[in-house]
Amino acid sequence: MGYLGKLRLDGRRAAVTGGAGGIGAACVDALLEAGAHVVVLDHSLAAIEKAKERLLGQDVSFEQLDVTDTVAVKAMAGRLRPIDVLVNNAGIGRQTPGEDISETEWHEVMDVNLNAVFWCSQAFGRGMIERRRGSIVNIGSMSGEIVTRPQKNVHYNASKAAVHHITRSLAAEWAGRGVRVNAVAPGFIETPMNSFALRSDIETTNIWLSNTPMGRVGQTDEIASIVLFLASDAASLMTGSIVLADGGYTVW
Ligand code: NDP
Repeated sequence: MGYLGKLRLDGRRAAVTGGAGGIGAACVDALLEAGAHVVVLDHSLAAIEKAKERLLGQDVSFEQLDVTDTVAVKAMAGRLRPIDVLVNNAGIGRQTPGEDISETEWHEVMDVNLNAVFWCSQAFGRGMIERRRGSIVNIGSMSGEIVTRPQKNVHYNASKAAVHHITRSLAAEWAGRGVRVNAVAPGFIETPMNSFALRSDIETTNIWLSNTPMGRVGQTDEIASIVLFLASDAASLMTGSIVLADGGYTVW
């Protein structure tokens, strides 16, 4: 197989959580282009309907799944078998100073960003271990490595740091069983999650840009191409890696 051939995913089945919008939708596009059958998993029926229209005629299927519903996650993993590639992308952002975060908000962020990554990895990973073949790609964040500013979101940062360590821990456990586990740690990407700043808060946007050597935010396809690489055999020696894609933010 040639170098470019290793990026192909023909005959493989991939699932993307939060695949109807933002970075997840770009991941769906990349995996489809590489030849995989892709299952879009998302919790909003309206978003799924929109994604269906966008992806009309492609080798894709759609399932409604709230990743925080552990019973539904287990059932879905069973029903979709076999899955070769899992992209744990669903995530939420909240901006609240630490002294004001309520228990409800703390748990909401942890349930989606952290707990669901583990339970989805376990549910889909079991099938991969059985078949001794699989690649899990988690969407972490540069906020899992450093504290971004000026927004205040200790829960988000902590959840992403834990995603990075889940990635390393499961990578170590499953390396000998044919399953690779890696993560992409994006910097600021232009998606609905960041609309609180990019569309309305010029001051925050300017702080982000002036703290980024490249002087710009990223686009969703710039994360999806790394996800595709990690999902594919082109990354066959990589497991437990956290790949930063942040326009240089973390080097300053
Ligand atoms: P978006 O909000 O644009 O997309 C997230 C998708 O996940 C949406 O379709 C959302 O649905 C869905 N989702 C949310 N909660 C659940 C749930 N409980 N079950 C299933 N699906 C759910 O965010 P991004 O594309 O920006 O973020 C994707 C990932 O990238 C997240 O993990 C995020 O933390 C990470 N990331 C993003 C960065 C950025 O700058 N944008 C930077 C670093 C990391 P709905 O919108 O209907 O709620």
